[in-house]
Amino acid sequence: MNAADPIRRVSVVSTGRVQIRPDHEASNWRPMAWWLLASRRWTGPRPINAYVIEHRDGLVLFDSGQDRASVTDPGYFPGGLTGALYGRLARFEIGPQETLSAGLDRLGYAAGDVKTAVLSHLHQDHIGGLAELSDADIVVSQAEWDTLSSPLPEMRGLMRRHIDLPGLRWHRIKTAPTNDAGLAPFQSCHDLFGDGSLVLLPTPGHTPGSMSLLVRQPGLPPLMMVGDLTYDAHLLEAGHVPGVGSPRRLREATAMVNKMRQQYPGLVILPAHDPGAADRLARVTLATARLCQPHDIHSEGSQMEIDTLESVQSGGATQWIRVRGADATNPVLLLIQQGPGLPMISEARRFERVLGLEQSFTVVYWDQRGCGRSLRRREDRVGISRERLVDDTVSLLDLLRDRFGAKTYVAGFSFGATLGAYAAAQRPDLVAALVATGMDIDGAAAGTCAYDFALAAARQRGSRRAIRQLEAIGPPPHLTTKQFTTRVRWATNFGGVTSNETYASLVRGLLASLVRSPDYSAADLFRTVRGISATQAALLPELASMDLAAALPRIDVPVVLVQGRHDQVAPGTAAQRYADLLQAPDKQLVWFESSAHTPHLEESGKFRDQLLRVRDTQLAKT
Ligand SMILES: [Zn+2]
Ligand SMILES: [Zn+2]
Repeated sequence: MNAADPIRRVSVVSTGRVQIRPDHEASNWRPMAWWLLASRRWTGPRPINAYVIEHRDGLVLFDSGQDRASVTDPGYFPGGLTGALYGRLARFEIGPQETLSAGLDRLGYAAGDVKTAVLSHLHQDHIGGLAELSDADIVVSQAEWDTLSSPLPEMRGLMRRHIDLPGLRWHRIKTAPTNDAGLAPFQSCHDLFGDGSLVLLPTPGHTPGSMSLLVRQPGLPPLMMVGDLTYDAHLLEAGHVPGVGSPRRLREATAMVNKMRQQYPGLVILPAHDPGAADRLARVTLATARLCQPHDIHSEGSQMEIDTLESVQSGGATQWIRVRGADATNPVLLLIQQGPGLPMISEARRFERVLGLEQSFTVVYWDQRGCGRSLRRREDRVGISRERLVDDTVSLLDLLRDRFGAKTYVAGFSFGATLGAYAAAQRPDLVAALVATGMDIDGAAAGTCAYDFALAAARQRGSRRAIRQLEAIGPPPHLTTKQFTTRVRWATNFGGVTSNETYASLVRGLLASLVRSPDYSAADLFRTVRGISATQAALLPELASMDLAAALPRIDVPVVLVQGRHDQVAPGTAAQRYADLLQAPDKQLVWFESSAHTPHLEESGKFRDQLLRVRDTQLAKT
């Protein structure tokens, strides 16, 4: 992706399958009335696609699929002759998991995330998701809307009671003349966000107001979502038109799109019911990850060869990674965020600003299960355990090895370091080296250290509020979120976590990073904040009883323990004990004398040098 590119991701959802008549797919010049009544054959099953575009200004849909109620509710279609004709025109198969909402959910979105839904036209298999889109602006052409009022709309496939639903915000648009040469031969358009990335073009024929959507991304072939202008991109390319609509206007619109294909030889045609469309789209999307594009988020002249936001599947949950790097041949570095429950993708810019790792590594920023962007579905909130998170780490490392063909460097922070250690112990074949910073090693010692530190500091400073709250929770273990938060808040406020930061300033920093990051919606932000305590609640008992000396006496990869001298929540004594007993091919405990729990932020230059030294040492061996 490109910084100037407002489009982050394009995906497709199919709301079930539809079969149509062969004459419908490609016109044989027999009149529609004839084949509709006489035909006894159906085509193979075809998708009912809604295209999903993640744009900087919000999630956009092109079409919304077929309503599952059409196969479960006998009253969905009109009765009598009209109803019989609907039954002869198409037959649908839609499973419980094939609704628009379920499809968006699988992509990691919610129906409520959709800001704009564009309808190519108003036929039943394009408007079926409207009831699920009450938060969206619905865009349709004025010409298409007007057909609702011409005679016998239901005979023309328009069921107004399923279209004109109460509460929907309709925008009836007209295309306007344009002199954008990139749109030739089209001479009028509607630029959805005014940035040229999503342009609606009039392609009447199937219905009088049918529109297509052209999606343009720098450095990539444009996508043309054509609705029902064709049912098969190859038929369109060969100049064939379908059997429903005005043959003359269908031929005109088809010729226009084919002219555009001459201008863009790679133009990707994405019809609503083309069985090949999803594959075609997947191939373009895959190319995105490999293309070299200039990138200028950070400093002028910086060139990012890789910059992708991707979802990965692990243990039934969708998780998100952002991958950034200046040179695809650099080694891969996975950053595992401290926790429990803190996001990492939102920190990408800050990490790059203070550490500047993306010139030397391909850096993978990962929002773990139950946190940040990976927290879009209710299921993602349950089943959080240390074991699960370790499994997720291993699957991600596996995926990175397959993708980049080499072991990954792992830098983990606090509990993220613990996860990295477990993963490295389980699968040393996947890890080039582990840099564990402020690692949670000994839960009991950590709790006592933090509590004693906070209480002593409170007494020394005469902070009556802190003393009162700390005495109220008593000494550890602190197994509820409230107890844990109280301990962490005061240990933080007295400098035990990050020098010169208070608990409130850390929380403000987290919120600011979420707000500024292009990768989170407002809904993500609220989910993230709520998710932190849910994840904490799930992990606190395991954290409190953590004992790495017993659990992981041996790790078969080079290990560097990075330890802040003033760390009061992961004490140096525990790090020293663990460093002494750990069996590893190469081990090192590096003290950061001016740091507490976050040496990577407090002494970032030294931390960066440490990572580069680890990299150079390992590269020298190979
Ligand atoms: Zn249609
Ligand atoms: Zn259709």
